[in-house]
Amino acid sequence: MEQKKSRNSDSRRAIVIGSGFGGLAAAIRLQSAGIQTTIFEKRDMPGGRAYVYRDKGFTFDAGPTVITAPECLEELFSLSGRKIEDYIELMPVTPFYRLFWEDGFKFDYTNDMDDTLEQIRKVSPDDVSGYQRFLKYSKDVFAEGYTKLAHVPFLNWWSMIRVAPQLVKLGAYRSVYSTVAKFIKDEHLRQAFSFHSLLVGGNPFTTSSIYTLIHYLERNWGVFFPRGGTGALVRALVKLFEDLGGTIRYQAEIDRIITDTDETGASRGRVTGVRLMSGETVPCDICVSNADVVHTYRDMLQKAPAAKAKTKKLLNMNQSMSLVVIYFGTKKRYPQLAHHNVLFGPRYKGLLKDIFSNGRLPEDFSLYLHAPTVSDPTLAPEGCEAFYVLSPVSNLGKLEIDWNVEGPKYADKILNYLEERYLPGLRENLVTQRIFTPEDFKHELNAHQGAAFSLEPVLTQSAFFRTHNRDENLRGLYVVGAGTHPGAGVPGVVNSAKATASLVLNDFA
Ligand SMILES: Cc1cc2nc3c(=O)[nH]c(=O)nc-3n(C[C@H](O)[C@H](O)[C@H](O)COP(=O)(O)OP(=O)(O)OC[C@H]3O[C@@H](n4cnc5c(N)ncnc54)[C@H](O)[C@@H]3O)c2cc1C
Repeated sequence: MEQKKSRNSDSRRAIVIGSGFGGLAAAIRLQSAGIQTTIFEKRDMPGGRAYVYRDKGFTFDAGPTVITAPECLEELFSLSGRKIEDYIELMPVTPFYRLFWEDGFKFDYTNDMDDTLEQIRKVSPDDVSGYQRFLKYSKDVFAEGYTKLAHVPFLNWWSMIRVAPQLVKLGAYRSVYSTVAKFIKDEHLRQAFSFHSLLVGGNPFTTSSIYTLIHYLERNWGVFFPRGGTGALVRALVKLFEDLGGTIRYQAEIDRIITDTDETGASRGRVTGVRLMSGETVPCDICVSNADVVHTYRDMLQKAPAAKAKTKKLLNMNQSMSLVVIYFGTKKRYPQLAHHNVLFGPRYKGLLKDIFSNGRLPEDFSLYLHAPTVSDPTLAPEGCEAFYVLSPVSNLGKLEIDWNVEGPKYADKILNYLEERYLPGLRENLVTQRIFTPEDFKHELNAHQGAAFSLEPVLTQSAFFRTHNRDENLRGLYVVGAGTHPGAGVPGVVNSAKATASLVLNDFA
């Protein structure tokens, strides 16, 4: 799809704050449309949550690993007549996930329908038809929630009212889990088909059933992994942006978004530039913030009176959960694992309640274990395996503990658990290890309350109720990324960039 090149756009200067997937996608769209765009990134490398760590020959993708909806990535290249395959190879991953439970039950979640139905039949014959009805439901939600609405900005009540009848018809007021449970009886299978909302920071017991669309989205396009890791996909997007003439600056943290209301205190105004931590100021007409939405309004716009009400509103909203992530490499391979593994613990609902509501650090855990060397052995030295294991935990607003002290202890417990149940001999084969805790989300990524996925994806914080992609009061100010519509996850933030860029191009054409 060719993006409309805006009239006069060549004279406009845009700044994008942050180089997460959302920031990169927005910058590519603006630059493709002829707007001279510069990205300012706080860290020394691009990607945001999709940062890359390297140690002793191992490559660790820090965040997103389940790459879905390749069409939204392909579109970023086709905007300027390029092809994604000239920049990066997306390899299909199968099974999508290997799911393990402590009682020994195992489920390979694949794109092969016969195989899926056969696995369901073995454990619960009655659920075969229920699953087929669930898939149909998920497809209907996908058609409404993704195809029609994922890239559309929700700026006013009318936009919400227009879609309300559809949302009611699809039962969007129900939770993911209760929707799955309507169709499927077996508890293992209910977990297998409801955990997906956790991938975007949502508790399956409270997140709207709209998020069941992820199930169909995966079935529709498949699950992919970029050759060379997610970091290679980030580098491909940076290369595309630079090929288009864009500029990216690293270790360039923005301290303030400057507005013309700063001095006058007027309630309406416009963005005029940014000031870096170094003191340097850079003028612009358009500023798109890909940084955390609370950080954007509370910290970078603290001098703008027009941002006060928004800050107050954002501080009252619920943040998603946080994570403890352990990146580790072994000098041994573990062939029983798939690329993506989900290790369910003894509790599901109770564990999620502890994390999302009770603010407790539980004794048990449910884990996601990433083993990318299954798809791409170049990510570790020969005969070795690169991993990360991720454990959802409460954000810092719910659980205040000293993660510098508790983090390493918690990581030890997780590694012991892995050694006992899934990775025999782990300790003696461990070559490298590092951890990332809620405190790191807060300090490294400026994430409010250390949330891993920004605002919690519940119905009352979605679409019109999420941060609007264009600010109502400050001309030239836009936001993009996990805190905006449609929300977290790579497809989410890449679609949010489409919504945001369409507004910029409309406003500045
Ligand atoms: C461990 C983990 C695993 C995940 N797994 C998956 C997955 O498998 N599949 C999937 O689809 N999604 C996954 N997600 C979710 C997905 O990664 C995120 O929702 C998405 O990448 C967020 O992108 P974003 O555009 O919002 O920006 P972010 O990635 O949040 O990037 C924001 C950027 O802004 C920069 N920044 C902040 N403040 C400033 C400032 N003042 N000045 C300059 N720069 C600043 C930050 O340094 C950062 O680079 C995962 C997330 C995590 C944490």
